[in-house]
Order: sequence, then C-alpha cells, then structure tokens
Amino acid sequence: KSMCNTDIGSLPAPFPELADSILDMFRLNNKAAAITGGARGIGYAISEAYLQAGLSKLAIIDYAPNDVAVNNLIERFPKSQIIYLNCDVRKADQVKEVIEKIHKEFEVIDIFVANAGIAWTSGPMIDQETDDDWHNVMNVDLNGVYYCAKNIGKIFRAQGKGSLVMTASMSAHIVNVPQLQAAYNVAKAGVLHLGKSLAVEWAAFARVNTVSPGYIATELSDFVPEEMKNSWYSLTPKGRQGSPRELCGAYLYLASDAATYTTGTDVRVDGGYCSV
Ligand code: NAD
Repeated sequence: KSMCNTDIGSLPAPFPELADSILDMFRLNNKAAAITGGARGIGYAISEAYLQAGLSKLAIIDYAPNDVAVNNLIERFPKSQIIYLNCDVRKADQVKEVIEKIHKEFEVIDIFVANAGIAWTSGPMIDQETDDDWHNVMNVDLNGVYYCAKNIGKIFRAQGKGSLVMTASMSAHIVNVPQLQAAYNVAKAGVLHLGKSLAVEWAAFARVNTVSPGYIATELSDFVPEEMKNSWYSLTPKGRQGSPRELCGAYLYLASDAATYTTGTDVRVDGGYCSV
C-alpha cells in the first residue's frame, strides 16, 4: 500500500480561510509585529514594508533614541498603532520586560523579527583579540537573538501561532574576505542554526526562519574602508551593494500567510555572493 495519498480529491483543501487572491496571502492586515533594530537600516525598511502591507500594530524595539525616522512612520501610517520601546537586546531582563509589555498592549503578537545586530568587520585576528571583543559581538548578534526567541517563543506557544524571522548574514555561510570577523561569522552561523533548531522544536505552534543579507547599504556597512567595499563589489555577481528595500520581499514572505508551510529555512539575499 502506498504511503502517499494520490487521490487529490480526498486531500483537505489547503487553508480554506485564506483569501482567493495570491496577493492577499502576503497582506499583514489585522496582524501585529515586533521588530528589533527597527529604528535604522534594514529593520526600519522592514517596518516600513510591513506597514505598507497593511500591518495594524507595530512595536519597534531599539536602543537608538526614538527619533525622526520612527516619528515619520507614525505620521505616514496613521491607521496603524506604532509603539517604540527602548531596549538593549544584550540585557535578558530588558528583552523579557519589553516583549511582555508588547504582548500586554497588543494581546497577540503574530510576527517577531529579531534583527538588531552590530558589525565586526575590522577586528583583530582571534589570537590578538580580547575576550571582551569576542563577547561584545556574541552578546548582541547571538545572545540578543536568543533572548528574543526565548521570550517570544513562550507567547507563540500560548497563542498556538506565530512567525519568528531572524536576521543572519552571508557571513553565516562563508568566511568573508578580506576583513577579519570570526566572531561575527560564528554569531551569525549560530543564528542560522538556532533558526533550524527552533523550527523543529516549535513546529506544532510556530514558524521560524532566517534571512541572510549580503552587503547592504546601511550605517552598519557605511564605515567599511573603500578598498574593502571594492573587494565586496568585485566578489558580488550583481556587482553592487543591495539596498534595505531589496530585502523586504523576503521578510514579508516569511512573516505572511504565503509562508504557512515554510519553516526552518534561510533566504539568502546577497546578490549571488555565496553562490560563487
Ligand atoms: P544598522 O546599524 O543600520 O541598524 C541596526 C539597528 O540595530 C540600529 O537601529 C541599532 O540601534 C540597533 N541595535 C544595535 N545594537 C542593539 C542593541 N544592543 N539593542 C537594541 N538595538 C540595537 O545595521 P543594519 O545593516 O540595518 O543591520 C541589521 C541586521 O542586519 C544586523 O543583524 C546585521 O548584522 C545584519 N546584516 C547587515 C548587513 C549589511 O551589510 N548591512 C549584512 C548582513 C547582515
């Protein structure tokens, strides 16, 4: 007897509650999201994209001051509820507190994007760095993501639903040259594998995926020396930097009902960098 049911007529209709239009599956109407590092760069672009897709409630979590950029979102999207929470993702107690606060305010959190991160593109080689150098990167780029995942996981479990998207990097996949950044590579590889692990652990109630950006034009990559930038351009098949906006399709897909069967995966958006 075949293990597969090939009688298509007897299979349950996939998600009959979803709207007929394929585009409707990407809409975030009536959903609530929280985004770390949402005040700048990639996180800000994701915030804007989610609001454009109809998101009704957005919590921006960042340790940057609540500035012009966030206020601009509040003005441009008056129908959505947008709140800003100051939090350092390196601090477990702060992360727990803000996520509980958002949950209380929004009642349901459908989407969480753990995106806040720092770069470490010109650090000393590992045998020359201090333990603090190593821990500083780990504390933001890996432990900060872990604290978020742990606390949102409890909420997703209680709700019986939720989508967690975490920002990894092309550096999770390859050793980037010529810059020295072993700590960053290891932290991002950790995020990638945390994504797969949680997808399996939480399959019954949540989806967990990662996005791996390539070289993207933000403040984080701005300080990189010119020769390093040129080396990156020449190693990127697309021959240029990406913009934060060019990542948003991946983040929208993973957050939305278009991705109800997508979990434990990584979407690389790197201009082909890791394919070479
Ligand atoms: P960015 O510096 O423009 O923005 C990062 C945001 O995170 C800022 O708003 C900052 O205030 C916030 N942040 C940093 N540390 C924090 C902390 N401890 N607590 C709370 N908020 C904190 O950087 P970006 O380029 O937008 O980076 C976003 C993510 O994308 C990071 O995880 C980064 O590693 C990753 N990434 C970026 C690139 C790139 O080329 N820009 C490439 C691959 C991956």
